[in-house]
Amino acid sequence: MESNMPIAAGMHVLPALPYPTNALEPIIDAETLTIHHDKHHKKYVDDLNSAELALESARRQGDYRFIRYWEDALAFNGSGHILHSVYWRCMAPRGTGGEPGQYTARYLDWYFGGLEQFKAQFVAAANAVEGSGWAILGYNPAFFRLELLQAEKHQNLTQWGLMPILVCDVWEHAYYLKYKNDRAAYIDAWWTIINWNDVEERFIKAAQGVVRLD
Ligand code: MN
Repeated sequence: MESNMPIAAGMHVLPALPYPTNALEPIIDAETLTIHHDKHHKKYVDDLNSAELALESARRQGDYRFIRYWEDALAFNGSGHILHSVYWRCMAPRGTGGEPGQYTARYLDWYFGGLEQFKAQFVAAANAVEGSGWAILGYNPAFFRLELLQAEKHQNLTQWGLMPILVCDVWEHAYYLKYKNDRAAYIDAWWTIINWNDVEERFIKAAQGVVRLD
């Protein structure tokens, strides 16, 4: 659903996967994808809704004893929900994701020096995330351009304003069933299922300030 209606407190919804759970085989197995989406992402959505409703209740009662707990939950679960919503869409079955679109390719050339240079930095950043986190190519409207960042957990190490465009989840739950401790093998394989058409579309929308997750 494309809409500009604001999402009320507690009303976030787990988005459906844009493909069947076995669509990314053999790169990402159906069991990993199912657990990742139906359990992990769903919990981030549920806990984001809980935090928003708890804060709504706190406002009503004027009781902010647990403000630190709920504000932390907003940051962690809200960021987790956003990143996973982008993660599902920026992947596609092998051979269907196309090549970087004209705007994406132009920015990667201009800022990173080309697709191969961008890939080298992205893969290095993803491999080097300390603990659980992400590699994130995002559009920062404050700078009118793309930037490549790591995230620890879902919310640490960001730049304010960044809209994620291409994201790689390197939490162990994203790859451990199939790749065990070989994060590098997962990232190499993941690179082959990037949905560049989706990246181009979200980049253009983000640059226009109209991006939505659903
Ligand atoms: Mn995840």
